[in-house]
Amino acid sequence: MPELPEMENYRILLNQKIIGQTITDIQINREKSININADLFKKTVLNQKVVNIHRRGKHLLFQLQNGPILLLHLMLGGWMFFGTEDDKPKRTIQIRLSFDKSQLYFIGLRLGYLHLYSPAEAEQKLSHLGPEPLAAEFTLQEFLKRISSRHGRLKTTLLDQKFIAGIGNCYSTEICFHAGILPTKDIDDISETERVRFYHSMQVILLEAIKYGGYLENPFFKGDTLTGSFYELCQVYDREGEKCRRCGSTIVMELISSRKTFYCPNCQKKTRSSIS
Ligand SMILES: [Zn+2]
Repeated sequence: MPELPEMENYRILLNQKIIGQTITDIQINREKSININADLFKKTVLNQKVVNIHRRGKHLLFQLQNGPILLLHLMLGGWMFFGTEDDKPKRTIQIRLSFDKSQLYFIGLRLGYLHLYSPAEAEQKLSHLGPEPLAAEFTLQEFLKRISSRHGRLKTTLLDQKFIAGIGNCYSTEICFHAGILPTKDIDDISETERVRFYHSMQVILLEAIKYGGYLENPFFKGDTLTGSFYELCQVYDREGEKCRRCGSTIVMELISSRKTFYCPNCQKKTRSSIS
């Protein structure tokens, strides 16, 4: 599932492609992907300029000229492609927004959606989300305060969008590796030093992942060589049975709350020794 870096990568690329551009046509092939009557949706969205695109957690908000917001969540398996009809991936398209000859395709929207809301409704829909981990106001002190009220397994808490917004299975895994902390560990057993280290690893990994376009495999446009580059840089995610690049141990996969969790049993210990 796309997480904060993937959505931030999309936001950056979409800003380059469609800001200030007018939506000239709309095709809805799957009405379940929208939240209102298709005709009303088209009537409201058609001929509107996209004036801004923001990200909140794993959501993107397309701000339209006349006020409403298109709220996107790709969920599991969703992705986007921008290009002409000739470049279009050979996949089922759920929604297509046209910007003259360029098209924005929404693909793999099974649980994912593109909903139309007023700004107030959109704000209300996102009101449950925890802080943005890269926001300036999300300080170390704020993180320490938030985690001190949590118990149970670290991994489970990290996936809770009310705790911190935007982190999912891949980045919870990679941040824990970077910090040298076992994701299976109970929060009560994580020392102050480890908590501080976790906070810094979170910044490092998320920024690095954005820089390398996240881990999703599909390019955003023809010739896009950035999107997905972080996948090769993942140290433990999706690397079960492979060698740890840091110590040579075999990467382990364990299911936590039915989510695949990868770690290096040597670099991430119950009680941390030293990591070179
Ligand atoms: Zn290792």
